[in-house]
Formats: sequence, C-alpha cells, structure tokens
Amino acid sequence: MTELLRTRAELAAWLASTGGTRAVVLTMGALHAGHESLMKAARAEVGDAGTVLTTIFVNPAQFGPNEDFARYPRTLDADLARCVANGIDAVFAPDEVEVYPPDEEITEYEPGPLANELEGAARPGHFAGVLKVVSRLLLLTDADVTFFGEKDYQQLTLVRRLLQMEPRLAKCRVVAVPIMRGPDGLALSSRNRYLSEEQHAQALAIPETIALVRQLCADGLTGEQAAQVGRGFLKTSPGVTVDYVVVRSVGLGIAPAVGEARVLVAARVGDTRLLDNGPVIIKGHEA
Ligand code: AMP
Repeated sequence: MTELLRTRAELAAWLASTGGTRAVVLTMGALHAGHESLMKAARAEVGDAGTVLTTIFVNPAQFGPNEDFARYPRTLDADLARCVANGIDAVFAPDEVEVYPPDEEITEYEPGPLANELEGAARPGHFAGVLKVVSRLLLLTDADVTFFGEKDYQQLTLVRRLLQMEPRLAKCRVVAVPIMRGPDGLALSSRNRYLSEEQHAQALAIPETIALVRQLCADGLTGEQAAQVGRGFLKTSPGVTVDYVVVRSVGLGIAPAVGEARVLVAARVGDTRLLDNGPVIIKGHEA
C-alpha cells in the first residue's frame, strides 16, 4: 500500500513505523517514465525488505523570479497513481510551510564555482536552492540512499558534493540513473508537455546534437572542436535557440585531451528550456 504523507508529523510517524534500508526519490511531480526509472532502480536496490519513499515538492527556492514556478505542472492525482503502480511505500507531498517552517533555520550551502556555470549561469541562485531543498528533504526522510537522474547532470554532480560536505548526510549514498528517452530520442521531461507537436519535432535536434558531438569525439576532434561543430548544427536548427553546447570532464571540469567526457546541451524551443547530455569518448588526435 502507498501511504500519502502531507505533513512532517505524518512523515515522522511513518518513518518510526518502518525499518530496513530507506531509498528516497526526490521529484517535483508531473511524473513520467523517467521518474519511474528512478523508482524502479530504488526498489531494485533495497528489495522488499527496504522501503521506497518518493517526495513531490515544487521547490520555490530553485526558481528565479522570471521562471516558471507558477505554471510548473502540478498533477498530484496522476502522480499518486504512478507511485502506486510502482509499488512505492510512501509519498511525501508537503506544502511549503512543512518544508520551510518560518520558525526554523534551514541550512544553506555555498555550492562553489560550478554552481555559477552552465545551468547556474542561466539561472542565478538555482543550485543554492536545489542543495537547500535536497538536504532538507533527505534529512527529513532519513534517507540511506537516494536516486538522481543523469538528465540533470550538473545537479547530480553538485548533489554528490553536497553529500560530501554535509556531515548529517554522511550515511546517504547517491545512485545515478541513466536518461530515459522517448521513442524518438527526446529526453523525457515534465516540461515536454509545453511543446506543440511542431516544437517537439524541432526539439529532436537536441539529441541529434548529442549524437553528432559523440561521433566527432570518437573521430578524433578535441572536445572543444566537437562542441563547436555541435553548436553550429543546433544554431541552424529551426525553432531552436541555443544556450550552450559544451564538452566537459565527467566531473564537469575542463574536458580531457583523451578519454571519457560528457557533452551537455541546453536550448530553448519556444518558451521551453530543455536540457540533455550524454557520455562521449574523446579519442584524441591519433584516432
Ligand atoms: P524533477 O521532477 O524534474 O525535479 O526530476 C526529479 C528527478 O528525476 C531528478 O533526479 C531528475 O534528474 C530525474 N529525471 C527527470 N527526467 C528524467 C529522465 N528523462 N531520465 C532519468 N531521470 C530523469
């Protein structure tokens, strides 16, 4: 049975009544098959002896003043149905006051320079808001292990750092889950529902750019050269406005001359900002 918990008191009572390894999947709702892949990975990790808890909370702290907080999709009934179908033990779907009670001081983090690059450059304060809510929710839910999608690769990288810098989260491990894509290759995202049919088709240039950059890296171009060609391709794609196409190291530092790296893309289609990324292998000049 899936318990719906709306308050911290209900959550605390549920935690006290259950045991075993506790897996926690943090979401903002509007659940889709990508979120379900996190839930499935969580269940596979802890088995039937452990518990899987999903949180649904649209965190105001990670949205900028001109972003889509108010219009972010909220679909609680459908979300609960997906959680039930995935055998989730409990869903914590709190109001803001439960997460950030006005009389409690909530720890904030200095996420470091990576938080000002890529997504952070486009969204000032975003990652400080993400780390604040991630820490808060993992502490409230007493998580032993948490699951994050590679879809938000920079977020995953910064969450790994958070777990290293917050001693109260020392027991919590993070597991990365690969990007779930639709049959046409577009990475699943709650924001895809904003796309018209035409825009959805235009957005396919984003995974095509990832595939192109991956091929160019395999063919012997440097990460920067491959990213530049990818940027040029995406810029000329109809309906798409490029924010960035970059190749970085797997830890999001400077790309290595040879070896494993990551291509990351952000672009707008209409008013909808979309993210994608994927692994690449830089072959180097001898290729
Ligand atoms: P969100 O509700 O967008 O905050 O996402 C909650 C979690 O689901 C994050 O860890 C995301 O990275 C992950 N996620 C979202 N979309 C996908 C996807 N297409 N594949 C894998 N994980 C995803």
